[in-house]
Amino acid sequence: MLAYTYTKPGTFALIEKPKPALLDARDAIVRVTLASICTSDLHIKHGSVPRAVPGVTVGHEMVGVVESVGSAVSSVRPGDRVTVNVETFCGHCFFCEHGYVNNCTDPNGGWALGCRIDGGQAAFVRVPFADQGLNKIPDSVSDRQALFVGDVLATGFWAARISEITPEDTVLIIGAGPTGLCTLLCTLLKRPKRVIVCETDPLRLQFLRTHFPQVIAVSPQDVLTCVQDGSDHGGADVVLEVAGTAETFRLAWQCARPNAVVTIVALYDSPQLLPLPEMYGKNLTFKTGGVDGCDCVEILSLIAQGNLDTTPLITHTYPLRDIEAAYTLFEEKRDGVIKVAIEP
Ligand SMILES: [Zn+2]
Ligand SMILES: [Zn+2]
Repeated sequence: MLAYTYTKPGTFALIEKPKPALLDARDAIVRVTLASICTSDLHIKHGSVPRAVPGVTVGHEMVGVVESVGSAVSSVRPGDRVTVNVETFCGHCFFCEHGYVNNCTDPNGGWALGCRIDGGQAAFVRVPFADQGLNKIPDSVSDRQALFVGDVLATGFWAARISEITPEDTVLIIGAGPTGLCTLLCTLLKRPKRVIVCETDPLRLQFLRTHFPQVIAVSPQDVLTCVQDGSDHGGADVVLEVAGTAETFRLAWQCARPNAVVTIVALYDSPQLLPLPEMYGKNLTFKTGGVDGCDCVEILSLIAQGNLDTTPLITHTYPLRDIEAAYTLFEEKRDGVIKVAIEP
């Protein structure tokens, strides 16, 4: 089968590999029916994920059909349509039992697929801990509707869940890339009084205004004034930082009102400065981390009920044989791209 592979730092290539086989009783083999490209794939390509193993098939955001399962797998059967979770987790350690699956202590846990072990930008993928890592897609939900459930949408859902959003709140989301938009969709489920989204790219601002007319879309130059004048208490009650630059990190705490919650969803390339003397007395609560992708059942049911729809984010679709072109488009943010779907 063809598999898009991290061959060496800076280089991915579509190469021929054997079809994966079950290695453990808890494994499943999934025939990938639709995959996607994530910004984290680009981080691997550019060498900023040291634990990524050269030779692995990349891709950690996909849906498919279960082909075979190990003898210890009980939650899915061959023929089931499933979403694949970006996180590999055992389901039994202290952290898993508390829902902190990102911190699973199993040596094989964490972000493994498409990083440390072969991922899903290929025709087939082996999924370890299949009882935890796979979720059945309801019949009424299409592959395109379910494509982001295991990664970018799980991240948005987790971010909105931990941010303590109430109906009285003015919520500021910084960044309207794929994760920012998923965070926005999940924030809207909490029905806050006001949502402001800060984005620098004019095409993405346009996308926001077209698809989310109920939201105030604003550029970074205007966001501080907009939040101070447009909220009830001189700043946002909740800030979600999903952009990941030094400027957006600074805006996140500057735009927050005293005693606000600031949730850092973004992954930064370098350490950020917390100027505590300037912030003294503001009494902010910072929440940081990586997605605990343990809400996929609830997310799939929200999609089935028509309450959550990420299909507008799929702006382009490519066959696997043209994945190189899909990467170029995604990496260079050409043609208004938000997310690319890959058909194996
Ligand atoms: Zn990802
Ligand atoms: Zn665990």
